[in-house]
Amino acid sequence: MEVLNNYINSSWVKSKETNTSDIINPATQEILGKVPMGKGTATDVARAVEAAAEAYKIWSQVPVMKRVQPLYKLKQLLEENAEDIARTITTECGKTIAESRGELQRAIENVETACGTPMLIQSEFSENIAGGVDEFMIRQPLGVCACIAPFNFPGMIPFWFLPYAIACGNTFILKPSEKVPLTMMKVFKLIEQIDLPSGVINLVHGGKETVDALLDHPEIKAISFVGSSNIARYVYSRGAANGKRVQAQGGAKNPVVILPDADIEMSVQIVTDSVYGCAGQRCLAASNIITVGDKGSIKEALYESAKKRTTGFGLDETIEMGPVISKESRTRVESLVDKAVSEGAKVLLDGRNAKVSGYENGNFIRPTILEGLPLNGETIRTEIFGPVMSLIELETVDDALNFINNGHYGNMACLFTSSGANARKFRSLANAGNIGINIGVAAPMAQFPFSGWKESFFGDLHGQGRHAIEFFTQTKVVIERWPREWSRKF
Ligand code: NAD
Repeated sequence: MEVLNNYINSSWVKSKETNTSDIINPATQEILGKVPMGKGTATDVARAVEAAAEAYKIWSQVPVMKRVQPLYKLKQLLEENAEDIARTITTECGKTIAESRGELQRAIENVETACGTPMLIQSEFSENIAGGVDEFMIRQPLGVCACIAPFNFPGMIPFWFLPYAIACGNTFILKPSEKVPLTMMKVFKLIEQIDLPSGVINLVHGGKETVDALLDHPEIKAISFVGSSNIARYVYSRGAANGKRVQAQGGAKNPVVILPDADIEMSVQIVTDSVYGCAGQRCLAASNIITVGDKGSIKEALYESAKKRTTGFGLDETIEMGPVISKESRTRVESLVDKAVSEGAKVLLDGRNAKVSGYENGNFIRPTILEGLPLNGETIRTEIFGPVMSLIELETVDDALNFINNGHYGNMACLFTSSGANARKFRSLANAGNIGINIGVAAPMAQFPFSGWKESFFGDLHGQGRHAIEFFTQTKVVIERWPREWSRKF
């Protein structure tokens, strides 16, 4: 079984670590490969940083217009190889092939947006800010930047950062999730072909030891992290304590409110897609579905829509939902459902102990619906990260806003309504970084920041768009005087 190599200084090199962890197809349990895991990966990080730091000396001086040329090539290669990469995402991550294709499209859009860096990086100039004095600000790169990615979007999340970082003149080290490293292995085979100088983009595998080595290395200037909130907080604290710029996106528990004046058919379709898409393993998955003034018809429609959703191996084009990532994850999700029951919830639709014919060993959970969770209980505030909907009935929009704003996460909040006044109030008062109005997954497009709040984000500047340009540059302000006879007159 192949042990994955790192990509350092334009070469595929063996890890210094001999311990490995299996990469497992979550639908079949087939072992797809092995990834290095352990203390020796710190040596891999040191080698990658050395290469990236050396490359930075040259790359940071390349004009921005030239720095984006390899990104145009990468866009084309990603498009040409999209189906192959999408199949890899499904095979190692479990989501449906349609979801994998969609994910990759979002990755490509980030490459396209980063191609606009020559404009985005432009800055400000004030002529004659004082007599004969001009002042201007320039944006300069930081140095070596690193990204630590989660398992649930192996093809997209590295692209919230990577294209912007290098377009801004930085060099880059990516550590994919040890659960799904094969997608980036495919992408890096393409990166090899885009004529970047050696060391500009590097890949190191591993888990906690790799992360700690990245957080502690003095040559790394910035860390972009996406994952669960506990690890995000840890990465933010340790990175910042080491003097690094850190953006750390964390977990979520996303509320969606359906008002009685909403288009019910459309809302129900969109909401069930949001809850069960990617088997609920999205940081923008709807989780707490709040109906206001429902006489029972919305609940009934949600139940019917969830019940008929098909579950199976994602490479089967007819399947609507794949497995969760691991056996541990399945056990965790199922035990959270048990816990909700012990807190007083009723299981309206039970997807536990699912068996899919032909894939008996897969980590499948069918769509599940809970109702009657106590509002002050623990499960109602816990990220389940599986295909579980919690139904909550409230009296008014204000009750819904109160419930939302008392939560400790702030990744997303959505409202379904036909009332402009309610929509306006909701978007203004809901304490979440991404708001959807008649949208179920309020994922910002590449031009906008992926704006989590509260425990869903640690830092100041988010991934994507202008925020990414600001994150990956430091500002320098120059004030200068060039004395001349004519300017002294004023
Ligand atoms: P995770 O936190 O377990 O892992 C994320 C990364 O951290 C991985 O690369 C992993 O190797 C590393 N890591 C794990 N444990 C570590 C430790 N103890 N010390 C140092 N590094 C460690 O997250 P995951 O399970 O891969 O991803 C799912 C989570 O990510 C969910 O909570 C989800 O909401 C969140 N997520 C958030 C966003 C967002 O934009 N806010 C997007 C996607 C996923």
